[in-house]
Amino acid sequence: MIKSNIPLYEEIYKKIKESNKIILHRHERPDPDAYGSQGSLAELIKINFPDKKVILVGKESPSLSFLFNTEEVVPDDYKDALVITTDTANFPRIDGKLFTKNNFLIKIDHHPPLDNYGDINLVNTEVSSTCELIYDLYLYLRERHNFVINSNIAMLLYIGIVGDTGRFLFSNTTENTLKVASELMKYDFNMTEVIDRMETISEKLMRFRAFIFENYQIYSEGAAYLKITKDDMDKYGVTPGEVSSGINLLRSLKNLQVWCFAIDEGNKVRVRIRSKGPC
Ligand code: MN
Ligand code: MN
Repeated sequence: MIKSNIPLYEEIYKKIKESNKIILHRHERPDPDAYGSQGSLAELIKINFPDKKVILVGKESPSLSFLFNTEEVVPDDYKDALVITTDTANFPRIDGKLFTKNNFLIKIDHHPPLDNYGDINLVNTEVSSTCELIYDLYLYLRERHNFVINSNIAMLLYIGIVGDTGRFLFSNTTENTLKVASELMKYDFNMTEVIDRMETISEKLMRFRAFIFENYQIYSEGAAYLKITKDDMDKYGVTPGEVSSGINLLRSLKNLQVWCFAIDEGNKVRVRIRSKGPC
């Protein structure tokens, strides 16, 4: 358990305990960690506080909606609700913002804390993923408040960790990450099936991978980039959100240190940057 987080864990517990309604948000264009952290925390609350109303919000991602569905909400739903965001570094990235300043807001995340928009900010950059952090929160709740988890929660946490560590390949994979994963594997879920399902892509997107490999450019030694125009996406029938998922395909290029995708999103160009250490 991350000792320095304990005071915040207790504050979060108290807030959840005193709230009858909890609404959980994630970031736009959700990835497995966004889904996994939001869904696992929602179910953790539901099974340990069965009388509370728990609502999940966020636009669905076609490749991950098999995990669970979200609900449509209206401003009235937020009356007296506790709002929790997971895996969402900055306020503008929160998917769905019908809550107001009257709502108590808890941020749970693992990105560098540039925007502490919550009333409570549980942010830890040492963990691989928000899911790893939620598991740590659970360890505290188990010890102090007799919380339990189930196989579905374990599965959701596992896929978030797998997603953010690139199947335990990236440098954010620590001893603790593997320890958590091994604890989660003791639960009854079909790991292979769920990972396969999560990583299944459409034929259009598979063909777009060829475009990535054919068209990336070397900017200077160790730096590569790929420009993706609207015409490119139209040609392959893929969306800006979908093309982003291919960015790590360049990772194994010899001598590569840093690389990015510049994606034309119509009114803006989104630049996604990845690196292997120096920056
Ligand atoms: Mn994420
Ligand atoms: Mn994450």
